Amino acid sequence: MAEYQRHEHDVLIIGAGGAGLRAAVEASGAGVSVGLVCKSLLGKAHTVMAEGGIAAALGNVDDRDNWTVHFADTMRGGGYINNWRMAELHAREAPDRVRELEAWGAVFDRTKDRRILQRNFGGHKYPRLAHVGDRTGLEMIRTLQDHGIHQGLDVHMECTILSLLKDGDRVVGAFGYQRERGRFVVFHAKAVILATGGIGRAYSVTSNSWEGTGDGHALAYRAGAELIDMEFIQFHPTGMVWPPSVQGILVTEGVRGEGGILRNRDGRRFMFDDIPDLYRNQTAADAEEGWRYTQGDKDARRPPELLTRDHVARCIVREVKEGRGSPHGGVFLDISWIREKLANAEAHIKKKLPSMYHQFKQLADIDITKEPMEVGPTTHYVMGGIFVDADTQLSTLPGLFAAGECAAGINGANRLGGNSLSDLLVFGKRAGEHAARFAKANEVGQINEDQVGQMAHEAVAPFDRPDESIADGPYQVQYDLQKLMQDLVGIVRTEKEIVRAIDGIGRLWERARNVRVYGNREYNNGWHTALDLPNLLTVAESIAKSAIERRESRGGHFRDDYPSKVDEFSKFNHVVRKGEDGRMQVSRRPLSEMPSALKKIIEDNQ
Ligand SMILES: Cc1cc2nc3c(=O)[nH]c(=O)nc-3n(C[C@H](O)[C@H](O)[C@H](O)COP(=O)(O)OP(=O)(O)OC[C@H]3O[C@@H](n4cnc5c(N)ncnc54)[C@H](O)[C@@H]3O)c2cc1C
Repeated sequence: MAEYQRHEHDVLIIGAGGAGLRAAVEASGAGVSVGLVCKSLLGKAHTVMAEGGIAAALGNVDDRDNWTVHFADTMRGGGYINNWRMAELHAREAPDRVRELEAWGAVFDRTKDRRILQRNFGGHKYPRLAHVGDRTGLEMIRTLQDHGIHQGLDVHMECTILSLLKDGDRVVGAFGYQRERGRFVVFHAKAVILATGGIGRAYSVTSNSWEGTGDGHALAYRAGAELIDMEFIQFHPTGMVWPPSVQGILVTEGVRGEGGILRNRDGRRFMFDDIPDLYRNQTAADAEEGWRYTQGDKDARRPPELLTRDHVARCIVREVKEGRGSPHGGVFLDISWIREKLANAEAHIKKKLPSMYHQFKQLADIDITKEPMEVGPTTHYVMGGIFVDADTQLSTLPGLFAAGECAAGINGANRLGGNSLSDLLVFGKRAGEHAARFAKANEVGQINEDQVGQMAHEAVAPFDRPDESIADGPYQVQYDLQKLMQDLVGIVRTEKEIVRAIDGIGRLWERARNVRVYGNREYNNGWHTALDLPNLLTVAESIAKSAIERRESRGGHFRDDYPSKVDEFSKFNHVVRKGEDGRMQVSRRPLSEMPSALKKIIEDNQ
């Protein structure tokens, strides 16, 4: 047996963002031993960047809100191909999860009568996002981390998992390496939860942190689990576009929730030009009504800037394509205009959007209280991911659970802002609970040492390749992949371009198999990038192969050659799995029949 560092836990959680931490709290509370692995330092997961808030129908600001409205909003946003059971559980349980977080020490912004304050966000009928200024993710991570650590868990920081270990069909552990020293680590566990977050780094313009390389998606796929809905990528409408060094960094939807408006080069508020039929009844008739909505007027309807993200992003692309964009290829987002309405506008903006104020001041030398920001779409979130059972978060493999952004179902074709943080809490808890139950009910499985040896061999292969066979290093392949995805499988897609993308991804796979890295294994970023490549490529291939099959436009997937929704495509999800020949297969799985009580909720909320 090779001399690797070894750890044994009842439940191993891969990922220490909101989903992983919430799962850890639940599993350790159930009395099992928990190991938590993350690529960065504890507390630095991508969740920490979340800004706008957590969606939960607490009804604190508008008492007409309740779980049924939240459920209907989520299904409408998702183009009705969401897993209805997940959407139901999420809407029902999110309020309790938020109150629980508060009880554990999260200090939310307050209403005048000292309840948790809630703000407007795109696609949510009523003000629904519990928030802490525009630093909600930080508060959430801090609270979960403090609570979890005191409850007892073993944390393995700066450790990247490369592969899941299996005993027959069952997942029984994971193999990885310590990023600092490059040493290999074997984790043995009765149950494993994937909570690895998103895939934004498969594109060149993204709001995601360096950790978002789709590892969990790829780990699950390689182990034989199923992915669904991979064609649905969310391009957030407002990322920074200038200066180039900060391109893609998110500008929270909270800016629009607080009254920010979008204008083109000619000063026109273009969002009023195109309002989808599905949302016409819920959208303000004019600027005045939109402003009243943002200020809490219950009789007003939301401004068109708060339509769903897919729609707003496409409107921005249209303005830019048709020559009405801002100087650096975006449009203008203006919150400073509220000075016309509020005497204390400057202080108000700084209080409500402190991070945005500092972000623009420091990175772009723009004072958002006085001038507009330049913004454009940025790759933000993946709706697709690991297929899980709605109630337990169990994947199609025994012993393997998934939660958070790497799992799929709740969002369907498009996620509403704020629904991710609540998803992490609701389904992180469920994953922790059911993984702990699985661990209690099952003995530890066998680790196959040959499998471990093979993985170690493959991991160091990039050091051993002869120089002469190598055309490029890992960074070049990564760059070319990101550019290919951005150009050919981005916001607006066509058959011709996706075919080119699939072809290009095939060639990038070849190049990735031959990349050479130099130096030794101690904090070697080139090596880390070489090891990321198979994950990024798996994710890219699954997006492109699912996108070509969906010959319609729905949610985050827009086909220029099929610009409308098509009824046939509203009846199934795309499933991606590894075929017996090792090739990626995409098939259809019919949606399950929604109970009539839930159908009625949707009808009542049209
Ligand atoms: C700027 C920004 C603002 C956002 N604002 C909001 C918001 O206001 N409201 C909202 O609902 N959503 C928001 N989102 C989306 C939301 O933040 C994410 O979807 C969510 O935080 C994902 O959480 P997670 O727990 O699934 O994963 P993450 O927080 O991404 O954590 C993933 C964890 O997995 C670890 N990991 C990954 N791969 C491996 C591996 N191979 N081995 C070991 N560990 C691994 C990482 O190190 C990390 O610890 C925002 C996103 C961005 C980018």
